[in-house]
Amino acid sequence: MSAEVGAARTDWERATDEVVEYLRALIRIPSVNPPDGGPVLAAGRDPRGGETAAARYCAEILSGAGISAEVLESEPGRGSCFARLSATVPDPQPPLVLLSHLDVVPVEADPWSRDPFGGELVEGVVWGRGAVDMKDMVAMELGVMLALAREGGERSRDVIFAAVADEEAGGLFGARHWVERRPDVFRGRDGRPAAAALNEVGGYSTTVGSRRVYTIQVAEKGIIWTRLTATGTTGHGSMPHPDNAAVKLAAAVARLAAEAHPARLTRVVRDFLDALGLDGVAEAAKRGDEERLRAELERATADPVLRRSLDAMLRDTVTPTVIRVGQKMNVIPGFGQAEVDVRTLPDTDQLALLEHLTGVAGSDVRVEAVLTLPPITWPADAEIVQLMVAALGRADPDGEPAPMMITPGTDAKALALLGIPTYGFAPLRLDPDVPFLSLFHGHDERVPVSALRFGLPVLHEVVRGFVSA
Ligand SMILES: [Zn+2]
Repeated sequence: MSAEVGAARTDWERATDEVVEYLRALIRIPSVNPPDGGPVLAAGRDPRGGETAAARYCAEILSGAGISAEVLESEPGRGSCFARLSATVPDPQPPLVLLSHLDVVPVEADPWSRDPFGGELVEGVVWGRGAVDMKDMVAMELGVMLALAREGGERSRDVIFAAVADEEAGGLFGARHWVERRPDVFRGRDGRPAAAALNEVGGYSTTVGSRRVYTIQVAEKGIIWTRLTATGTTGHGSMPHPDNAAVKLAAAVARLAAEAHPARLTRVVRDFLDALGLDGVAEAAKRGDEERLRAELERATADPVLRRSLDAMLRDTVTPTVIRVGQKMNVIPGFGQAEVDVRTLPDTDQLALLEHLTGVAGSDVRVEAVLTLPPITWPADAEIVQLMVAALGRADPDGEPAPMMITPGTDAKALALLGIPTYGFAPLRLDPDVPFLSLFHGHDERVPVSALRFGLPVLHEVVRGFVSA
């Protein structure tokens, strides 16, 4: 596919081949977060300084195409790459940000079929940590920057490339840091914040029944990371007493885990279910009929991960993830802590929920929120979303675009502090048998080249449309 744009044409076959090489090179840089090497260096590789190395790689590719790029570090080794293609008109509109993160989560090497940091290309599939989260999008955004620069033509906005560190640990050394310390990197020359940002997660196709739906991520659930603390009286394990921090903590965690949070249908999710053709699921959620909801979800898809994902879009979730208590078999512990990952729907009162959870946990433990981030919802009828719908429609007339809320959080939450609407749109056309959602942070992370070949021109078309003068 070729597109006549501006002064020059882009050969998308060739451009995609380049993007594949960027992706493979990025995977070979083990930008694992946490970057301290951890107890086991990631699969025999040293991740220290990996984010900066990945940022430098991006800067090199951009500079090679005549786009000035800089690598900024929040701390030594925690590098982010920023670059800007300036508008060509005198009074430009606010910029567009192509946002991504350079860090990846660690791996357990054993269960992988291939080297997680090898960037191998085997039978049309690129393998390795970051292949879908999210070095694929880093590479595609590089490809779009290069295509725009080569094509020339007028631009009504700056296009900002921002590939940042530390998304996987909350962004304090990445997006959050730069939003607070250098907001200018996300703003136009006149100081106005960017009009929009394109980011990870949405954009991929998911097949439900006979429908191929392209997700357009317009919303994210809120976060309340909650810590429980139990104290007790230490003593010898041979002489039990009731003031045992382990028992108190376990009981509180069990109570929180056992509580059911009722299903609720929010607007974005209703529209998403509508696009998927899952009226039964929507109806059951609306009525709060949990039994029917379970049955409808089972009918909807055989993929258990997609089922869990849909279910989590319909309720607040409370997930104990960490329990630390006790040192030794024969010592009754006097102190312990647990962490509970709470995710909230757009219309949930986060304070009220925390109060409720404090009550459920009981008076034997202290409950505190260590990080609270509100949910975000951006307009699903924005110009840039319309451009996504149009580009997807041209590239895959049988597909159906659908605005979606994701259950995890992304750097979109950091850009929200500047008022920048951030949409998850990393377009990939995937065969129905690709277990895409399981690949995020999972073993054998990989992406088909055909998906990138589909996505690159779509992403370019959206960007080009949004910055056309
Ligand atoms: Zn990610």
